[in-house]
Amino acid sequence: MIGAVDIGGTKIAVGVVDESGKVLSRMEAPTDPNRYSDGIELIAHMLRKTAQRASGEITGIGIGSTGPVDPMSGEFGDVDFLPGWRGKSPVKDLAAAFNVRVALENDGDAAALAEAGWGAGRNRTRLIYVTVGTGIGGGMVFDGKLYRGVDGAHPEVGHHVVDPNGPQCSCGFRGCWESLAAGPAMVAWLETNAPADYPYRKGITAKRICELAQQEDLVALQAVEREAFYLGLGLANLINLFAPDAIVLSGSVMKSAPLFLGRIRGLIQTGCRFVPAEKTELTLASLGEDTNLIGAARVWHYRFGQ
Ligand SMILES: [Zn+2]
Repeated sequence: MIGAVDIGGTKIAVGVVDESGKVLSRMEAPTDPNRYSDGIELIAHMLRKTAQRASGEITGIGIGSTGPVDPMSGEFGDVDFLPGWRGKSPVKDLAAAFNVRVALENDGDAAALAEAGWGAGRNRTRLIYVTVGTGIGGGMVFDGKLYRGVDGAHPEVGHHVVDPNGPQCSCGFRGCWESLAAGPAMVAWLETNAPADYPYRKGITAKRICELAQQEDLVALQAVEREAFYLGLGLANLINLFAPDAIVLSGSVMKSAPLFLGRIRGLIQTGCRFVPAEKTELTLASLGEDTNLIGAARVWHYRFGQ
C-alpha cells in the first residue's frame, strides 16, 4: 500500500493506493502556504489516518506537487504560491517520519505516469497528458519513460505561444496556450465581449459557460467555439512536434470535452498534414477526480517499483 500525497496551491489531498492504482482511503485539507512544518505534520497525520482506515501499512510514499520541484533532490523550488515551502524537502522529512522510500514529481508528470500506467494511456508507447482547468499543464511519457528536460526540468506545455498578440501571462510571454485556452480565458473573453444586456455575465464560470452552450445560448456558443479553436491549435502543435500515439485530456474544462472535440479534430486535420495525425488518439483521462492522487502513488512505483 503506497501513501499518496498531492500538494496543490489551495489543498493537499492524501490517501493510500493499492498495487492496481485503486484509492483505498483519502482525506484532504487546505494548504498553508507559509508554514511548511505545520504542513508536513498535517500530511503525516493524514497518511497515518488513511492507512489506519484502510487497515494496512504504508510501504512507500509518492508525492505529486505543483511545481517547480526538483524530483531528484526532492526539494521545492521557487513555488510562487507556497513561499514558506521553498528549499524544503518533503521527501527527506516523510522518509524520516515513516522510515520508507519517498519519491516526488511535478503533479502534471505524476498524473501522466498514472494515466500511462493505470489509465487511458496504457499500451500507448508515446503519450502526452494535458490537463485544462484554471491553467494548462501536462507531462510526457515516451517509451515508458517520463520525459525530463535539462537538470530534470518539467517542460511547460501550457506556455508555448499560440498568438503573440494575446493576453499577457506570468511566464513572460503574451498569448501562450494557457493564457488563451485555460478556463479563466473563456470567462475573460465572455466578460469582455458579451453584449451589455447579457443576463448571465455576473459571476460566470467556465463550467457555467459550457452548460449555457449546451442550451444553445449564442454568446456561450461563441465562447466555446473560441475555446475549441485555441485548444485545437495547441493540441495540433503538440502533434506536429511529437507525433504521439495518444494525447490524454483531463481537467475541469475537459469535463465538457464533447463541446470541443469536433472542432479540435477539424483543426488537427487541417494543420497536421506532415505527420500521421489520424493515428494520434485523442482520449479522455480515465482515472477520474483522483488522477493526481493516484499519480502521486504511481510516482513511487515509477521510481522504485519492479
Ligand atoms: Zn504563459
